[in-house]
Amino acid sequence: MAQTAIELSSIEKRYGAHAALAGVSLAIAPGEFVALVGPSGSGKTTLLKTINGLVTPDAGTVRVMGEDAGAVPVHVLRRRIGYVFQEIGLFPHLTVAENIAITPKLLGWPQERIAARVANLLGLVDLPAEMGARLPAALSGGQRQRVGVARALAAEPKIMLMDEPFGALDPVTRDQLGTDYRALHDQLSLTTVMVTHDMSEAVLLADRIVVLKAGVIVADGGPAELSRQSQDPDVRALLDAPKRQAQRLAERLGGAA
Ligand code: ADP
Ligand code: MG
Repeated sequence: MAQTAIELSSIEKRYGAHAALAGVSLAIAPGEFVALVGPSGSGKTTLLKTINGLVTPDAGTVRVMGEDAGAVPVHVLRRRIGYVFQEIGLFPHLTVAENIAITPKLLGWPQERIAARVANLLGLVDLPAEMGARLPAALSGGQRQRVGVARALAAEPKIMLMDEPFGALDPVTRDQLGTDYRALHDQLSLTTVMVTHDMSEAVLLADRIVVLKAGVIVADGGPAELSRQSQDPDVRALLDAPKRQAQRLAERLGGAA
């Protein structure tokens, strides 16, 4: 197995005069669950897209499973890396099963193998098999995101990139999907990088939290480690917010927590 699942070295990306990424180095081990947090415009989406080749860096190198990503054809890279984002983009005229089957079909899998994989994936994301016949419009927001996760897993990637995947959902559904996805990450031995603007979500789900600010990593560590070590006032504010919120909630709900 490669020593690192994902390795970014001195990545720079500018749009005109603006540096979206200003020298980012990051090594992620196989099996890690990393939350990428930071204010809007800090470069989170750009960073995620440099990993699967949707963005080409101006400088620096990206290695995926030890291989130079620049040397791997983009369609091969995307097959190895699942990608889930907030506006999930299911095809409205295709059934749930057909949406999930898109990549296996492109890969020319035989019909029976596709059918078996779709059934297996629906089970993995905890959707009833009958739902495969429905159109996306007949699903709740949470169910649609589950289909998005299933579709991203179709070709058995070992790496998952998720860009605010549950951001548009109500808090209860969001919490459930986050917890379920974390279990799936463990069960399938995935490596996950999840962008979230919600520090509570990051603390609850991830092994490691990477904080971006203006295209630079300003903190990187496990939740408790960050809390102990980080001196950056913005990072402190980010970390203190869920703590304060939990305290206020406990007080108002009667001090039970
Ligand atoms: P985040 O996901 O953290 O909100 P992004 O990675 O989307 O941040 O963007 C980082 C910066 O790069 C922002 O200032 C954004 O406006 C700029 N940017 C991102 N994509 C493009 C693009 N395709 N063209 C021009 N500027 C862009
Ligand atoms: Mg973004």
